Amino acid sequence: MKNTVNIEWDKLGFSYIKTDYRYVSYWKEDSWDNGKLTSDNTLTISEGSPCLHYGQQCFEGLKAYRTREGKILIFRPDQNAKRMIKSCQRLFMPEVPEAKFIDACIQVVKANADWVPPYGTGATLYLRPLVIGVGDNIGVSPAKEYIFTVFCIPVGPYFKGGMTPLNFSVSDYDRAAPKGTGAAKVGGNYAASLYPHELARKEGYADCIYLDPATHTKIEEVGAANFFGITKDNKFVTPISDSILPSITKYSLLYVAKEYLGMETEERDIYIDKLDELVEAGACGTAAVISPIGSITYKGKKHVFHSLTEVGPITRKLYDTLVGIQFGDVKAPEGWMVEVK
Ligand SMILES: *Cc1c(COP(=O)(O)O)cnc(C)c1O
Repeated sequence: MKNTVNIEWDKLGFSYIKTDYRYVSYWKEDSWDNGKLTSDNTLTISEGSPCLHYGQQCFEGLKAYRTREGKILIFRPDQNAKRMIKSCQRLFMPEVPEAKFIDACIQVVKANADWVPPYGTGATLYLRPLVIGVGDNIGVSPAKEYIFTVFCIPVGPYFKGGMTPLNFSVSDYDRAAPKGTGAAKVGGNYAASLYPHELARKEGYADCIYLDPATHTKIEEVGAANFFGITKDNKFVTPISDSILPSITKYSLLYVAKEYLGMETEERDIYIDKLDELVEAGACGTAAVISPIGSITYKGKKHVFHSLTEVGPITRKLYDTLVGIQFGDVKAPEGWMVEVK
């Protein structure tokens, strides 16, 4: 497949661009229709739609990659499909079956193949699936109609000049309640995080870290990314909690650390006052893969990990291996990369 759209691939950031096609499917009378591709990038919905009033909506984020040979691969869409099913269950919305989700992603990538950035630019095609509750409602009750849509945009590499460590503060706010919707990928969690994010930005930090909402003693999330650390004895550790959003990048890094780098791995509590046990730390998610954490400021004290300017060696290896897998340069575990033909 060849690129034909006229874009300066190396200038791409993370902004909305209208690509050629998106997939839209409607749920009416208790079932999904077959869905179809459309060039129309607007949705027309009732003013009574529960997604507008009561936040009945969830979304996903995943990427398609162009390999050295020009093939197009999607990274672990089955995992996003499974996670979206859980988000739908939590918000009492009809599930999008895994096969339908993957098929929609493949259709969208195929129809927009010209928008998949060339290998070597570091740029990728970002896919945004979402489910929203729509229709004429106003009382607090689940919608009777839903829209499942998937659109895509080409996005640049998160770090333009290569990975650089970022500084974080610890927020007094919570992004989710102990038995709330923290583990579901829902817009409401994001709306609640905009203000704490802005407070951190104003003080010069990249973003804020959220502690566990019940005791405020353990690390949960780094903005909208998961946390990991490397211990002095070379273990990959990452927090475990019901209010953390289960990051597919995080679970992929757990696998890479164990199976590719031969490290021990552990999901366990990471206390904010015991950061000394970690020699490296990072934030992980689809957008950046890994953002190295240079420092965390907690109660006025700045804790520096590996370095404020240089990426730690293990973080670097984890990043290179996972990105290598995604772009098809490193052999992927069975089933991780789905080719779009
Ligand atoms: C999406 C998301 C992540 C990262 O998940 P990935 O599957 O790795 O992209 C982490 N935290 C939050 C709150 C998220 O919404």
